[in-house]
Amino acid sequence: MDEADVKTAYAAIAQAIAAFSGVLVDYLAGLDSRDREFAENFIAPVLKVSPIKGTRLIDRATELLEHRVVFKAMAEGRIDEGKSLMILDLLRTLPIAQALVVEKVLVAHAENSTYSATRQYGVRYIHRIDPDAAERRHKAKHKARLVEKFNLEDGMSSLRLTMTAHDAALSYDRIDRIAKALPKDRRTLDQKRSDVAKDLLHGRETAAPQGQTMVYLTMPVTSALGLTEEPGMLSGYGPLPAPVAKDIAAGGVWKRILTDPKTGMAEEISNIYRPTDKQRELIAARYPTCTAIGCRQPAHRCDLDHCCPYNGTNTTIKNLRPKCRHHHRMKTHTNWTCENRDDGTHTWTTPRGHTYETAPEPIAEPAPF
Ligand SMILES: [Zn+2]
Repeated sequence: MDEADVKTAYAAIAQAIAAFSGVLVDYLAGLDSRDREFAENFIAPVLKVSPIKGTRLIDRATELLEHRVVFKAMAEGRIDEGKSLMILDLLRTLPIAQALVVEKVLVAHAENSTYSATRQYGVRYIHRIDPDAAERRHKAKHKARLVEKFNLEDGMSSLRLTMTAHDAALSYDRIDRIAKALPKDRRTLDQKRSDVAKDLLHGRETAAPQGQTMVYLTMPVTSALGLTEEPGMLSGYGPLPAPVAKDIAAGGVWKRILTDPKTGMAEEISNIYRPTDKQRELIAARYPTCTAIGCRQPAHRCDLDHCCPYNGTNTTIKNLRPKCRHHHRMKTHTNWTCENRDDGTHTWTTPRGHTYETAPEPIAEPAPF
């Protein structure tokens, strides 16, 4: 058994789901139109599932068969079920003509990327071709902001605040900085954050936050000047419609990262004076996540790894890459190796000798010329 066998077995899961969906849609087509409305009641007792689950199976199969490019990719085992459901979800808000284009682009991306990388790419792609729709959706979702309480088992509950991405980033950052300022005790950082958030909500005094708020907002220069309506990027989140990003920029608590319009890569960070911090921030801006294959750990939670071991002179932007603790340890303690190229790509070699290329994702869309 080798990795190829694992890959084939995994592809078979998607192929089986596609085949099941095809059979289900054929079955539905065979029902007369009156019965079709109640189709879940025909299949639920046979499959030993609830009518709600039956409805979900029917809806998914029907939607999948309506999107032939996604269906074909699944039937051939090129993308898994999670990716296909995510792509269908992104397509749902688009007019049919646009959806057809986006479907092809996203399936091609998904074949060679992880679920979350494809999702992020898709959200940005849709923002770019339909910025007004993105702003309309943002406004509608903002109206639906709320606080929800979920009861958990064993005497616990969970509280969820739905708010703008920017407010959430600032709120989390504040909780995090206060928690990190607490003296060392037996509590984990997660436990401290929960206690701090509770104290803030109960109106109790808390420790003073440590350090400066770090919320990065990336905007093409042209958009910041109001010349274009390109989306802004909120670090650790993704794209924001240009008008929303401009509102945040006017508010003041952010760092501007200028992007090169040709490549979309970070070129300069304003308001940074000390060179070593600048280096660190530029690397984090250029490589927003851990540079291991498919890892999405944000750079601010990563170590800076010397790709070629430290030799006294190679603490350079070229040689330093963010790696999460887990992947930093994998590289240090096992036979995985990685090589950085001048163009920002990496080659990873597994202990069994397979090689994989990874490339940094531009943090802003390159200009379309
Ligand atoms: Zn990682």
